[in-house]
Amino acid sequence: VIEGLLEDLVLANRILFHQGVVDAYGHVSARDPRDPERFLLARHVAPALVTRDDIMTFDLEGRALDANGRTPYTEVFIHAAIYAARADVHGVVHSHSPAIIPFGVSDVLLRPVAHVCAFLGQGVARFDTQDAFGDTDLLIRDLELGRALAHALGDHPVALMRGHGSVAVGVSLRQAVYRAIYTEVNARLQTEALRLGGSVRYLTPGETALMGRHQDPAYRRPWELWTAGLGEGFVAPAQH
Ligand SMILES: [Zn+2]
Repeated sequence: VIEGLLEDLVLANRILFHQGVVDAYGHVSARDPRDPERFLLARHVAPALVTRDDIMTFDLEGRALDANGRTPYTEVFIHAAIYAARADVHGVVHSHSPAIIPFGVSDVLLRPVAHVCAFLGQGVARFDTQDAFGDTDLLIRDLELGRALAHALGDHPVALMRGHGSVAVGVSLRQAVYRAIYTEVNARLQTEALRLGGSVRYLTPGETALMGRHQDPAYRRPWELWTAGLGEGFVAPAQH
């Protein structure tokens, strides 16, 4: 189980880069299947460059358990606090993907405009560091900020982080990746729909509920495609 998950986590990093969700910044983690009080996250490196050797283990307060000289991401507390607050969550993506940013600073709600983005019908949370912390550098630099973000996320699949980015969570790593990619897609499509100038008819709660039933929990088809999209130059991580 663990080797398959580590391989998926390396792939998730590269997929999210190729899909335009992360760039030099942003990160993706998975809860450790061997111990639910731990999670796996790469060291401080651009996601597209992550290999198996970069993956570190953390506890739910964001402490590295196997640093061996490796430096963690500044915002490791996003992941720690969300896993601590949400027993159902097994994957977390934090990104600054561009189409979502405007919805974090605007009062226009991000709502599902396409069936593949139906999960957004469960509601998109909003987090603003100004509310409890006033002026900050906007980064989630400690556990207190992480807990405030996790609290704002509540039981939603996605939270917008004002002036910064977003988080997407899932019951699996693959679901978190899927949601991160399709939240960005929905933000682009919704912006286009609003730009047309007429009134927008979003998916109804009934439609989003029905669509949710049809989602393959393993995301086999998109995962295969995204992995293939990494191209000839990509060498899949070796099986240990
Ligand atoms: Zn960030």
